[in-house]
Amino acid sequence: MSTPASQLALRSSLIDVFSRPLGSLRLSVTDRCNMRCGYCMPEESYVWLPRDSLLTFEELNRLAGIFIALGARKIRLTGGEPLLRHDLASLVGMLSRQSGLGDLALTTNGILLAEHAASLRTAGLRRVTVSLDTLRPERMLAFARSARHSDVLRGIREALGAGFSGVKLNSVVIRGFNDDETLDLLEFARASGVEVRFIEYMDVGGATRWRQEDVVTRAQLLETIARRYGRVDPLPDPANPAAPAERFRLADGTGFGIIASVTAPFCAECDRSRVTADGTWYTCLYAERGVDLREPLRGGANDAEISALIARVWRARDDRGAERRLAEPERGVLYQIDGLRADPRREMHTRGG
Ligand code: SAM
Repeated sequence: MSTPASQLALRSSLIDVFSRPLGSLRLSVTDRCNMRCGYCMPEESYVWLPRDSLLTFEELNRLAGIFIALGARKIRLTGGEPLLRHDLASLVGMLSRQSGLGDLALTTNGILLAEHAASLRTAGLRRVTVSLDTLRPERMLAFARSARHSDVLRGIREALGAGFSGVKLNSVVIRGFNDDETLDLLEFARASGVEVRFIEYMDVGGATRWRQEDVVTRAQLLETIARRYGRVDPLPDPANPAAPAERFRLADGTGFGIIASVTAPFCAECDRSRVTADGTWYTCLYAERGVDLREPLRGGANDAEISALIARVWRARDDRGAERRLAEPERGVLYQIDGLRADPRREMHTRGG
């Protein structure tokens, strides 16, 4: 895709109020999910986005092109469960042909990954992150209401066989659910040849059961790991200052990551923004409101006009949502169920993780 000179000029100068560049975009392709993880979708019923409001692949690709021209170098496809979107490999193919995009990744729960891994790789997907919180099928059934644990493991194996440049695991750690599996997950990752990233349980979106005391902190995770393996060294990644995970290394070279969004927010470096499947753009995971990009996309605005809108919003961006939450003296859930029903875009499964 060719980039107009005016947009090239914007690319170098597009920074927000805190000098953070627009670098990384999460595109949610659906709000539907085939799991019901207790930290994300604990309720019995949900308000879904109307189907005709979902952006088509052509609209998503057009929007991606505008973001890339403004400086976005990384795109991660997410959801809901992105593999529920029919023929996702076609979208991957379109995005992978965008010049200027340095990284194209997918976050999935892995249930449908085995059947799609090879076609996604062939279409140009570079990296896959699989969410795996437990190695015990009965726990997954109880906590996430899915009996398909073996499909997730098969998905990880197929992804490794398909030749992605990186396969990672995401594990949200919650006290009383899976905090006794930290070492097992680390061993599983090591034996499988993938890197695990432990994620602190966040008070985002639909986490209506969140309690501060259920958060297993970075410090506690490191203590558990050091007690078993001895020395744990930080592994700085100067080439990737905006990466959410802090990386660490065991004495034998095994690497792992921790995403400490609750106790050590990384707002200062955050270059991420998110587009929901219906084209609402959020400049922070905790943002109350988003910007409607579907209306201009469908209403006849040209690329330059949409680009100008995005640039104007980014220049005014002053979000530090996770830091603000950290400063709250009595931290409870972010939204009660009524607030989520009133605007389903507040849900993590709509906004994308
Ligand atoms: N369905 C896909 C999956 O499972 O990876 C993509 C969407 S999911 C919302 C993206 C990521 O957000 C997952 O790794 C999930 O574990 C994480 N996530 C969801 N709710 C969370 C919470 N309350 N705290 C921390 N991480 C959360």
